[in-house]
Amino acid sequence: MPITYRGRFAPSPTGPLHFGSLVAAMASYLDAKAHHGEWLLRIEDLDFDRNVPGADTDIIASLQRCGMQWDGQITWQSQRTALYQQALAKLQANVFACSCSRKEIADSRLRAGLEDSQIYPGTCRNGMPEGKAARSFRLRVPDGDAARFHFDDRLFGTQNQDLSRDVGDFVLKRADGFWAYQLAVVVDDAAQGINAIVRGADLLDSTARQIYLQQLLGLPTPSYLHVPVVVNQAGEKLSKQTGALAFDSGNNNLLKEALLPAAQFLGLQLSSKANNESNELSRFWQEAIIAWSLRYPSVTGAC
Ligand SMILES: [Zn+2]
Repeated sequence: MPITYRGRFAPSPTGPLHFGSLVAAMASYLDAKAHHGEWLLRIEDLDFDRNVPGADTDIIASLQRCGMQWDGQITWQSQRTALYQQALAKLQANVFACSCSRKEIADSRLRAGLEDSQIYPGTCRNGMPEGKAARSFRLRVPDGDAARFHFDDRLFGTQNQDLSRDVGDFVLKRADGFWAYQLAVVVDDAAQGINAIVRGADLLDSTARQIYLQQLLGLPTPSYLHVPVVVNQAGEKLSKQTGALAFDSGNNNLLKEALLPAAQFLGLQLSSKANNESNELSRFWQEAIIAWSLRYPSVTGAC
């Protein structure tokens, strides 16, 4: 029996939906619709320092105004922390407490003659230095050949990453209680039965970590399609931090000002009918779903 496609859009409520996040929402929505699948909405509100009160409500309203209806109940990650705690307990054999600050990590890499201060040098792998308190909990990545991960992205093709060389032992939970994105996303995707992930290419680099977590937790690995991300003139990914503006003022022409440009960014060829301002949103979506299936390869085995 064919498996029902189930995808999702998972925005962080750090501000209103902007053009970059609309592109990601549209891509995941169109892929779900092109596969006659379900499309879930999950608010990734675990970074309490960056959450903006009311941003979730704004994002939800903008999706509705754009004509993108999700399936089932909206979920908020902040209400699901018991699941992350369970997963952390399950990973216990591969998790260690780490006392390192950002600066200490950068310093010890410098001493070791390593340049990239992003990669954890393994200081607390075999126990924290005496007298130090845990600042975070990290997942030990495999050594040697076992650290090499590969997966097939539906658009970008085969991707390779050596978790030991390129990433290092990564944080699952901070001592202040913040759950890391990598753990939460893996737990939630599996708990919600998500089997097809469509998201921005900035997350290509996170995928191997997530596949490793899926393997350790005995969870299935979904299919992956990463779409190009929208960048500003400085080449930075559009985000609230890089000055992205909301496209939905509440009473503007979303078809002309947001949906058609987003479809164009995704390389969708729409007929002149969908470009006509007087047309309804539903016509746009009908055509965009067809254009999507012509432009992007479908999930093998789904539908
Ligand atoms: Zn450490």
